[in-house]
Amino acid sequence: MSICSLCNGFSDVQMTCKTCGGLLGDMGKVSDYFDDYSAYMEIDQLKVENGYPSDLANHQCIHLFYCSACHSEELKQIQE
Ligand SMILES: [Zn+2]
Ligand SMILES: [Zn+2]
Repeated sequence: MSICSLCNGFSDVQMTCKTCGGLLGDMGKVSDYFDDYSAYMEIDQLKVENGYPSDLANHQCIHLFYCSACHSEELKQIQE
């Protein structure tokens, strides 16, 4: 499994909120919040919506981001 730079603290990626444009806070890996099955279901849908091929073999790390301004949550794929 590849190493995610966010999980390892190598980078302070700053994501912006789709809804209000505010800064999103990294809440950690999605797999820490959901069981594997539901996480993969969400990730599949996310990838389809974004037009990415649904290829979990890439082992991309999916993080949950939270906007404290408008209380929305977003899933983001973290690239190596
Ligand atoms: Zn990660
Ligand atoms: Zn927001």
